[in-house]
Amino acid sequence: MGVAAKALHLFDLMLAPSICPACQKNLAQESVDGRLCRACDEDLVRLPETRCGLCGTPLNTSLELCRECVETPRPWIAGTAAFPYDGPVGDWIRAYKYGGRTDFLNFFVREMANAWRAHHGSATPEAVTPIPLHWLRLRLRGFNQAALLAEGLARELGLEYLPALKRSHATAHQARLGESTRAKNLRRAFSVPHPESVEGKSILVVDDVFTTGATMTAACQALMEAGAEETAVIAIARA
Ligand SMILES: [Zn+2]
Ligand SMILES: [Zn+2]
Repeated sequence: MGVAAKALHLFDLMLAPSICPACQKNLAQESVDGRLCRACDEDLVRLPETRCGLCGTPLNTSLELCRECVETPRPWIAGTAAFPYDGPVGDWIRAYKYGGRTDFLNFFVREMANAWRAHHGSATPEAVTPIPLHWLRLRLRGFNQAALLAEGLARELGLEYLPALKRSHATAHQARLGESTRAKNLRRAFSVPHPESVEGKSILVVDDVFTTGATMTAACQALMEAGAEETAVIAIARA
């Protein structure tokens, strides 16, 4: 599919009648935008209420942060996710990202907005920024999965959508790299072409999956260096 055809396909999907993206059941009678059907919704496993305030990791103590966030300094002030990555949501994210299944988009946006309100409702970011894709990968995939999420989330939370970051070079597939190569690669991965657009702002950075946090760290650092006041992060799932 060419880029234009993909965009059109995307548009069609956004206007499509409500069908549960998880099981394809028609939602006509119980439709609320961005919801799964009742049966699929009842099966959903969300991250537990007791979770790390910086990354969403489930906690079984009264501590506020997980061990990873205590040991690894995070440049952001708040963070969460909606789901654990293992389980059906991981499959849905991969279908969305690599299979063009944008019918999951409204569902993801709704769940992220709910997670943000529930856990950081008092924090008030001004703008929502997606983790950018390198132009080459953008061209191959036809859309930036994080940009659609960020746009939807900005709309849902009533914030400015601000695609402020630029990917400086195509980083090799991060999953195949070791931790230190990953960090080194990422350090120069992002730039902010228009620093005046982020200056003094509190910015919520959006990605599809939060794994080690290395990508989010590089992105938040770039925003802070460009003059952002503070950053926060959110993802659909915590791996
Ligand atoms: Zn369903
Ligand atoms: Zn954490």
